[in-house]
Amino acid sequence: SQPILRVRDLKMHFPVKKGLRTLGTVRAVDGLSFDLHQGETLALVGESGCGKSTTGRAVLRLLEATDGSIQFMGEEVRQMSRSRLFQLRREMQIVFQDAYSFLNPRLPIGESILEAMEVHGLHTKEQRADKLSELLQTVGLNDSYAARFPHELSGGQRQRIGIARALSLHPKVIVADEPVSALDVSVQSQVLNLFQDLKEQFGLSYLFISHDLSVVRHVADRVAVMYLGKIVETGTADELFENPQHPYTQALLSAVPQPEVAATRERVILQGEVPSPMNPPSGCAFHTRCPIATELCRQSVPALESTTGDDHLVACHFVGGEGSA
Ligand code: SF4
Ligand code: MG
Repeated sequence: SQPILRVRDLKMHFPVKKGLRTLGTVRAVDGLSFDLHQGETLALVGESGCGKSTTGRAVLRLLEATDGSIQFMGEEVRQMSRSRLFQLRREMQIVFQDAYSFLNPRLPIGESILEAMEVHGLHTKEQRADKLSELLQTVGLNDSYAARFPHELSGGQRQRIGIARALSLHPKVIVADEPVSALDVSVQSQVLNLFQDLKEQFGLSYLFISHDLSVVRHVADRVAVMYLGKIVETGTADELFENPQHPYTQALLSAVPQPEVAATRERVILQGEVPSPMNPPSGCAFHTRCPIATELCRQSVPALESTTGDDHLVACHFVGGEGSA
């Protein structure tokens, strides 16, 4: 079936200027392709600065892509008119790390949710009031929250409100950008469970952005691991967590406490920070941190290829079939 979201060779390059001088180009996203299917959670994973959030904003056109294609149900997002884009931003919602970013601090939260529905012309005034109370229940809060102000809520409650607001517009896709990163671990699992329940209840599809693999493991059907604007490994969550192939994925995973595998796998420790996406390393961009890099890695960009004939893809010269050295 047709993916609900189809991204091909997406590029987000930003010139960096100082006065009139161009210092360079930040390649925040550098040739990214993925499909998100109906009812699926695709997790974009990587350290901060790898281009995950930029990708999330590009698919909603909150940031303009510099190249490539973004199709929502077969329609090119990059060519949408203003009015079509307005609709798209109902059909595709974004949930941020903290709902503070869109809740008006001076409005009771119920008003914010009612306003979102009204702006999009959904329902009559009476229906919206009913809907509000229904939405609060759906996310595990009660009617009394409608009258509260954003600062009166805990982080977890605010995320529930952010989710309620997104749901009020009947989206098909939710881009969730680090939706539980600001929460205590105990609250994280509650909010993640809510995401899971809502996905089933409403047939939602999630593009789930996170740097935290233990969170991703909890929610993802498929995973795409990003490094400096590119996908370096992608596959089903089971396959990726059980059989990671790319040295970067292996390093990320060995940093996560995983009782069931920790004993059997050698730890790979990541050295140093992610290099700047301005003038990224040549060849395989991971070579400056890769424990098994060779001269070939410094010179030649590895293609993202299937290693086993299925849809588990890896971009490394030293993983996989014929292409490997
Ligand atoms: Fe490491 Fe080379 Fe593979 Fe890149 S291509 S991940 S540097 S071995
Ligand atoms: Mg980010």
